[in-house]
Amino acid sequence: MNLLRAFLFILCLCFPLSAFGAEFSVPPRVSQGHAFPVSVQDDKPFSALFYWRGEELKAKAVKHPKKALWKAEILLAVPLDAQKEQVLSITIPREKHEFIITPLAVNWPKSILKVAPRYVAPPAEAMAQIERDRLLSRKALASRTEKRWSLPLKRPVPGGITSVFGGRRVFNGQPRAPHKGTDMRCAEGTAVKAVCTGTVLLAENTYFGGKMVYLDHGQGVISTYAHLSSFDVRPGDSVRKGQVIGRSGATGRVTGPHLHFGFLVQGVAVDAMPLLHSPPVLTGGPSRSIFQEQPKASKPRSAR
Ligand SMILES: [Zn+2]
Repeated sequence: MNLLRAFLFILCLCFPLSAFGAEFSVPPRVSQGHAFPVSVQDDKPFSALFYWRGEELKAKAVKHPKKALWKAEILLAVPLDAQKEQVLSITIPREKHEFIITPLAVNWPKSILKVAPRYVAPPAEAMAQIERDRLLSRKALASRTEKRWSLPLKRPVPGGITSVFGGRRVFNGQPRAPHKGTDMRCAEGTAVKAVCTGTVLLAENTYFGGKMVYLDHGQGVISTYAHLSSFDVRPGDSVRKGQVIGRSGATGRVTGPHLHFGFLVQGVAVDAMPLLHSPPVLTGGPSRSIFQEQPKASKPRSAR
C-alpha cells in the first residue's frame, strides 16, 4: 500500500506537467459525512469519467462564459462511517489519473430523543407503507441525470439547527441509525425553499418523513425535505434555487414542527451545511457553528 501511495503521490505531482494540459482540482482529505466537488479544466472541449466507490460517472465539460476554458465538474461523497483511504480515478481523453482521498474521522454527537411509540416499534399495519416508502426512496436515489447542482447551496429555511447531521440517536431508549440530515427550527407553515435548481422526483406522504419532497440536482445529487405540512410542487416540476417547494410542519416521526433537510450524493447521505459556504468546508464537523442562531436548551429536541 505504501508503494502504491508513493506512486500515486508522484503521479499527482505530475499533473500540471501533463501533455494534455488539463488541470485537476481534487481535495486530498475530506471528513466523514462530507461531499466534495472535483473538477477538471482544459482549453478544449472534453468529457471526463470519474470512478469513485464502485460507481462510474460521466461529466461533459462546460465552456466558461468568457474564456476558452472547459470545465467538467462532479460532486462526490465520503460516507459518515468511511475509515480507509479511497482512490478516485479520472479518465480524460487518452489519460487516466488516480488520486488518493483520505477520510478524516468526526466525533459524532449522541442524541437521546422521545417520540410516539409507533415510530420506534411501528405497528404491523404500517409495514406495507414503510416498505413502499423504502422502494420509492431507493428508486429516487438511483436517479443519474445531467448536472444541475451549483454551490453554494441556499438555506432552505431561516431557522437555526436543532439536531446536527450524523448524530448517533437513541429513540425512547432504543439505539437507531445515525441522523441522516439536519433538523432546522421553523414554525409550522414556514416557506421551505429549494437549496439548488433541479427537478421534483417525489412529493409523497411517507411514514417516518411525513410529507416529503425529493429534488434531483443531477449526477445523483438529491436534496430531501421532510415533515412538511403541504406541498407547493408536484413530481416532474422543474424548480429554481430558492423556489418555495412546500411549507414546514410536523408530519411523520417528529417531536414538534421542524424541517428535516437531507442531502444525498450518489445515494450517500452527507452533511449539507458545509455546502452552504463558499467555498464548501471539506473537513471538520458536525457543523452547527455556521449558523448564528443556537438551539435553546428549553425547547424539545426535534427528531427524525
Ligand atoms: Zn431529522
